[in-house]
Amino acid sequence: MENRTLLKEREKHILIKESFNTEINCDKPTLAGSVSQRACVFCGSRVVLYPIADAVHLVHGPIGCAAYTWDIRGSLSSGPELHRLSFSTDLTENEVIHGGEKKLSAALDNLISTYRPKAAFVYSTCIVGIIGDDVDAICKKLSSRYGIPVISVDSVGFQGTKKDGYAAACNSLFKLIGTGSTANIPKHSINIMGEFNLAGEAWIIKEYYRKIGIHVVSTMTGDGRIEEICRAHGASLNIVQCSGSMMQLARLMEEKYGIPYIRVSYFGLEDVALSLYSVADFFEDNPVIKQNARQLVFEEITKQQKEMEFYKSKLKGKKAAIYVGGAFKAFSLIKSLRSLGISVVLAGSQTGNAEDYKTLRELCDPGTIIIDDANPAELSKFILQKKTDLFIGGVKERPMAMKLGIGFCDHNHERQIPLAGFEGNLNFAKEICSSLLSPVWKFTKSREGGAI
Ligand code: SF4
Repeated sequence: MENRTLLKEREKHILIKESFNTEINCDKPTLAGSVSQRACVFCGSRVVLYPIADAVHLVHGPIGCAAYTWDIRGSLSSGPELHRLSFSTDLTENEVIHGGEKKLSAALDNLISTYRPKAAFVYSTCIVGIIGDDVDAICKKLSSRYGIPVISVDSVGFQGTKKDGYAAACNSLFKLIGTGSTANIPKHSINIMGEFNLAGEAWIIKEYYRKIGIHVVSTMTGDGRIEEICRAHGASLNIVQCSGSMMQLARLMEEKYGIPYIRVSYFGLEDVALSLYSVADFFEDNPVIKQNARQLVFEEITKQQKEMEFYKSKLKGKKAAIYVGGAFKAFSLIKSLRSLGISVVLAGSQTGNAEDYKTLRELCDPGTIIIDDANPAELSKFILQKKTDLFIGGVKERPMAMKLGIGFCDHNHERQIPLAGFEGNLNFAKEICSSLLSPVWKFTKSREGGAI
């Protein structure tokens, strides 16, 4: 493992904090042959729109694209669960030669008449970009036939990076926004954007806002409903949690509807409190909201203080590596780990931009390796080199951590326990403590330099 060499062109995507005197190479298409951890354009749009639970999601492409993203997030729904089904037009050689429009039209007809969804999203995959089906025309035809929005998601897999998939998803949501009634939306109201209700996290956050006196018009897209998204332009403020995926939509809504936005994070005590305060500050015309926010933060922090001290005593002095989708989450994770006495020795993301990496550099300790669009060989090499105890990533990073014999925390789509909010902060400490200190690692050889 130690002998693996870096691809020459990848060198500028990896920097040590001290040598960060030039811009990191980021926001670029993945280098061919590097076997990146990053997903394709289609996957980017699919993960953002996936949690909309009362819509049909039809993947126009070969069956593999649908299988790859089937039930891709642990997003919970309080009602319908149409999002958990994976529909595909199953394109084969026949459609590559003769076109897939007939099959797409028939599939939409079948799905809409069977499930009676509130809307349908049709995702274009690589093969559609090659054969050139007119997906927009089919969607328009089916939309007027059934009287529901049928939205073409321009997500041809090879046409960019995962980030372009986020943009395609934002454009699709923007087509819905503005088409519903804004009647009865109170003044102190928000849309929660970039919150996907993994393990019920959106419900936790919404409950905080209910307690402090703020109305939530829509959540995009966790536990999402088409009707709520259609009236989202009636809110006074957009709060953006996963900025990588939703910033474009926030900007579009500000431009068209004059709705301002603020970036927030619900990971780690410091950032949860700051997020609630910044939303309360926005509604300064009602001082009760600020008072309620203060009270809520005080009560929640006091409640977990004793237990957090216990975890701190167990985790102090450990070293962690972070590799996440959007860099904004990495900022909160660094602060959160630091509050537990854990130092971050490697930090990276799939989709961070130059500004994100600048902030990351400022937050990191001296000697930290900062890495963009990494691959398993690079991550494994640096994790071993830095003698890391814990890896925080997603499903694609989990087997790597297991093989390396270090603790792991899933902080991505598939997580089964809520890690957002005050409760999430405690869950996070518990989770990393039990994984990192598990006796099972005594039986692995890899950290001592053995084969992996
Ligand atoms: S869209 Fe293309 S890159 Fe993405 S899963 Fe399908 S075939 Fe693979």
